[in-house]
Amino acid sequence: MKKILSLLLMLTLMLSASAVSVFAGDESHVHNWTEWTTEKESTCEEHGSEYRYCDVCEQYEHRELPLGPHDWSAWKTDEASTPYKKGAKSRYCIVCEKEEIKSVAKKKLTANQKKAVKAVETYLKAAKSYNVKKMDACFKKGSKNYGYPTEKINWIYKKYNKKIKWSMVDVKGKGSTITVKVKVTRPDFYKQAYNAYYETFDWAMDHLNASSSKLGNKILGKYNTKVKNCTKKTSTDTVAFTIVKSGKKWKIKAKTRTIVDIATAFLWKGSEDATDDFLDKFS
Ligand SMILES: [Zn+2]
Ligand SMILES: [Zn+2]
Repeated sequence: MKKILSLLLMLTLMLSASAVSVFAGDESHVHNWTEWTTEKESTCEEHGSEYRYCDVCEQYEHRELPLGPHDWSAWKTDEASTPYKKGAKSRYCIVCEKEEIKSVAKKKLTANQKKAVKAVETYLKAAKSYNVKKMDACFKKGSKNYGYPTEKINWIYKKYNKKIKWSMVDVKGKGSTITVKVKVTRPDFYKQAYNAYYETFDWAMDHLNASSSKLGNKILGKYNTKVKNCTKKTSTDTVAFTIVKSGKKWKIKAKTRTIVDIATAFLWKGSEDATDDFLDKFS
């Protein structure tokens, strides 16, 4: 009898420990749940679900899963950062189209880039005071093409170039060639130059034996008068300088029309356009 009692007690303990009821279908049993199994994955927009069941009575239980994370696209650069301005990038969720925008830190200038920026500033300062010698020294040797007037009309630049202003926009490139973009405001006497040239060409058609020095003086005279009577316009746009390492120094690669014209109020652009347009009349 004692043996039977202890056996029964042992059996009872075992059953309650494993929580398995031998009385399947009996409402009083303790359910023996399986692990939760995902039925449907959540997205960022819709709740998924999971279930479990009792392997004794096969009762099922369902429940909702929390919303899932967004399914992000790759980051896309909306605005590239420069050494002077923060950029912006964005990504979006391909499910719900939510957008995320982040700013991108300014780029850091390398040591060489700093030297290139300095070379541009040196030039612009020389242009502001119309110091021809200093401006010429900013270019790599052998770079000619366009020049700076040193008589008759240089007073114009000495006077009005004080209005020259600039702000750096971007710097790109490594090694010994660096591009510096700078927003420049300078006097704009394009129309005056254009008209001085064009009118002189017209005049020359009636004076075919006029000497080239006479024509030159005529142009300068007209230009002087026109600038004196004009409204001292300035214009602002972005100019790219290519800066190269020349020996130990950083210089402007080429004496281009655009760069020279920063100091000459678009004299060269005006003269070239007038020449082209005048020649077009005869073609
Ligand atoms: Zn059950
Ligand atoms: Zn989403």
